[in-house]
Amino acid sequence: MGAGGLVAGRDCGECTACCVVLCIDDPDIQKASSERCRHCVDSGKGSCTIYLQRPRPCREFFCAWRHLEMLGDEWRPDRSGVFAVLEKFEPPELPDTPESPTMAITLMLTGDPEKTVREKWFVKFVCANIVSGQPVYLSLPAPPGYLPHRVLIYSAALTAAARQSAEPVLAVLEQALMFMSAQPFREQAFAHSGNNVSH
Ligand code: SF4
Ligand code: SF4
Repeated sequence: MGAGGLVAGRDCGECTACCVVLCIDDPDIQKASSERCRHCVDSGKGSCTIYLQRPRPCREFFCAWRHLEMLGDEWRPDRSGVFAVLEKFEPPELPDTPESPTMAITLMLTGDPEKTVREKWFVKFVCANIVSGQPVYLSLPAPPGYLPHRVLIYSAALTAAARQSAEPVLAVLEQALMFMSAQPFREQAFAHSGNNVSH
């Protein structure tokens, strides 16, 4: 592991996924979801034209692919169609106990969602996380200006089932995707203004 909890020797390369996908609502920068930041030049090299002066949220953000060695090179978001983010786990739907997990991984399907949830490598990764007690959220990106959907893929029953077979996990992933696809997206309301970099 390298500095700041990042995988040593790994860099973003041509990927610019976070400069497109993320909704950012910070005093220093606001950006609508699914809109390329106007400072992001998709030149094939993945460049931020204000890199040295980029705002604090941009300096501090790294996707899960930059943090987790277990995600191989093929998981880079622009290659895999999966934008993975590690975050604090604070679910209202699970009891808070000393054994409760504190971190979750959100897997946003930015490529071809229906194909991705059926991929063996994807289901295998979700299974491994659930079995090891790491909650997973499946997420669907929103159209520009709307909030993404996400569904928790984690329960005691699913953990027990995942220990036996990947089939139940695949079924839950497909149901979650179907559920999200049928839901209307909620509009994103910004709390901050003055530094909107959406196109
Ligand atoms: S999504 Fe991850 S790999 Fe891609 S540019 Fe952002 S931090 Fe780098
Ligand atoms: S300002 Fe931030 S969001 Fe915009 S291109 Fe630079 S790093 Fe990406």
